Amino acid sequence: MHTEERTFIAVKPDGVQRGLIGEIIKRFETKGYKVIGLKMLQVTDEQARAHYAEHEGKPFYPRLLKYIQSGPIVAMVIQGYNAVAGARHLMGATDPNQAEAGTIRASFAQVKEYNIVHGSDSVESAQREIGIYFNENELFTEGKCMSELVVESLDAEG
Ligand code: UDP
Ligand code: MG
Repeated sequence: MHTEERTFIAVKPDGVQRGLIGEIIKRFETKGYKVIGLKMLQVTDEQARAHYAEHEGKPFYPRLLKYIQSGPIVAMVIQGYNAVAGARHLMGATDPNQAEAGTIRASFAQVKEYNIVHGSDSVESAQREIGIYFNENELFTEGKCMSELVVESLDAEG
């Protein structure tokens, strides 16, 4: 049986500031992933360090911490088949000029320092990152598909 994956996505502060929240969410929704958690927040220093712990000590690390805290982000959890790799594919490579044409980063960003979107790189990272930004009770997996709603409403009519 194929299991659905969850992944952590964030519209970074430059994406929020540039008015690209809707555009970015739309890319994931129209792919068919389900948004199961969504919030706008100011990243704290503690969250930033936890999120990017793997990059500690790298030359770009201090600037990265500053970047992710430079304004609010829109954090979300999306769910779907193979969602971790699929979301990364939609986002494109870290450097927007290496990213495949049509991806979010290729379409809306110019440099890797301001690449407007984050997505977890593995199921393990996703689980860890979701825990940094969301409580389990902030994730909503219930919800009926349209055909179920239609049948229900027709049944209610009798
Ligand atoms: N980054 C940067 N300079 C670099 C590499 C990365 O500013 O040389 C930033 C960039 O915003 C990137 C983030 O650090 O998205 C995390 O880097 P990673 O290699 O994990 O890239 P990602 O997983 O976001 O594609
Ligand atoms: Mg990464």
